[in-house]
Amino acid sequence: MTTITDAATAAVARLDKDLFIGGEWRPASGGGRFPVENPATGEILCEVADATPEDGAAALDSAAAAQPGWAAVPPRERGEILRRAYEALIRRTDEVALLITLEMGKSLPESRAEVAYGADYLRWFGEEAVRVAGEWKTGSAGDGRILTVRRPVGPALLITPWNAPLAMLTRKIGPAVAAGCTTVVKPAAQTPLTALLLARLLTEAGLPPGVLNLVPTTAAGAVTEPLIADRRLRKLSFTGSTEVGRTLLRRAADNVLRTSMELGGNAPFIVCADADLDSAVDGAMVAKMRNLGEACIAANRFLVHETVADEFTRRLAARMSALTVGPGTDGSAAVGPLIDARQRDRVAGLVDDAVARGAQLVCGGRPGPGAGYFYPPTVLADVPAAARLTREEIFGPVAPITTFGSDEQALAMANDTEFGLVGYLFTRDLGRAVRMTEALETGMVGLNRGLVSDVAAPFGGIKQSGLGREGGATGIDEYLETQYVAVGL
Ligand code: NAD
Repeated sequence: MTTITDAATAAVARLDKDLFIGGEWRPASGGGRFPVENPATGEILCEVADATPEDGAAALDSAAAAQPGWAAVPPRERGEILRRAYEALIRRTDEVALLITLEMGKSLPESRAEVAYGADYLRWFGEEAVRVAGEWKTGSAGDGRILTVRRPVGPALLITPWNAPLAMLTRKIGPAVAAGCTTVVKPAAQTPLTALLLARLLTEAGLPPGVLNLVPTTAAGAVTEPLIADRRLRKLSFTGSTEVGRTLLRRAADNVLRTSMELGGNAPFIVCADADLDSAVDGAMVAKMRNLGEACIAANRFLVHETVADEFTRRLAARMSALTVGPGTDGSAAVGPLIDARQRDRVAGLVDDAVARGAQLVCGGRPGPGAGYFYPPTVLADVPAAARLTREEIFGPVAPITTFGSDEQALAMANDTEFGLVGYLFTRDLGRAVRMTEALETGMVGLNRGLVSDVAAPFGGIKQSGLGREGGATGIDEYLETQYVAVGL
């Protein structure tokens, strides 16, 4: 019988662990490699080639050289390559999910869900490739015609975080490839393994050399800064923290680069007095615990009407404390480790700060002993506004609860943040639902629902949560330019 350990060893052993540039696997120019850690054990899974700035330049050379040829490939053909890669991912769900769990930590069922969700972006954009449309119309004075065409923006640099090692990549690679852009991809250094497998699967699906160039590196700034300054690069798409996003936007300004930014969040989760509490608690579990709380769309602040706060807190704490913590590869564990020691200590520090300022610890709150970066599902009640976790992104399994007395107060609290990614709202009153949804300063709203991710929806934030949208009918626009031709008659 093959055990999970055998399968893990085999999945890691099978991977290409070099850089992928111009359709070839090659070691880093400096010969360097960096370790990839299993956050459940602290053990090193393997070492991966560590790209240098020279490798980054070679990747852009390759993307720039491939750009005209790739733009000329018929949209249907581009779409079919994405479709084949989608099918390969689905066929190999167990293997991809295992890699995600090994390098990122979440449970196998959650990783399988990410494979389904992440693969779907390739299918969705494969279908969108043939729908890119222009326009032909009469000019305003009637003496000419206006022809509008959409063209690929050009070589794109795609930078992704570790929290969804597959989906964060496919959400960018799918539309870029569908639109006819070539790419340089820099995955997070904590989770390069899923990216290496994805590059292999896309190549087997027929992606030509140079369209996708993959440069895992521990020197993110040094490798990407010269690329962002290079005039051949025409697009930067980044998912990660607002702090790094700001730095990249400053750099992109010098090259007047098209940018898409999916940045941090501080999602309010509002439970009104008239909410269906069963549905609110179910929604809270999804919005808080999906991806171990390590999600930009994770509920970060629970704002609960004072008349239902005790009941909501009791039910949420019962559900949270019933979750088993353990390695993601262990079939009985629902909650895996956080990504690294730094993140676990950050989460613990935020909880300690809230308790020191007067919050009540209802459950959890103590990191587990032993190897691995585990932190238990935690509920805090009576959290004061001064607590750091009301302003900072927690990125962990901690639910801080605060009460409110009126809709106006809930909205003022919800909007009192520089972030604007998503808000969750639970109410059975239609008028209140409309009024409060319209007043929420967020790019997305989960209305009586704890899950907003959907390939068919425009995912993205306002305020300091970002620029642009990924997925949906407009997702491909992020990788297209508009050219208009004034036609004389
Ligand atoms: P991060 O900003 O530290 O890193 C993200 C990526 O940027 C990584 O690949 C990293 O290597 C790279 N990077 C870091 N410094 C860089 C630099 N100076 N130049 C170029 N690249 C650099 O974020 P993280 O810790 O990996 O991910 C967590 C953050 O991502 C959270 O803030 C979360 O909210 C955000 N996130 C947002 C979304 C969204 O869609 N809005 C989705 C997932 C995660």
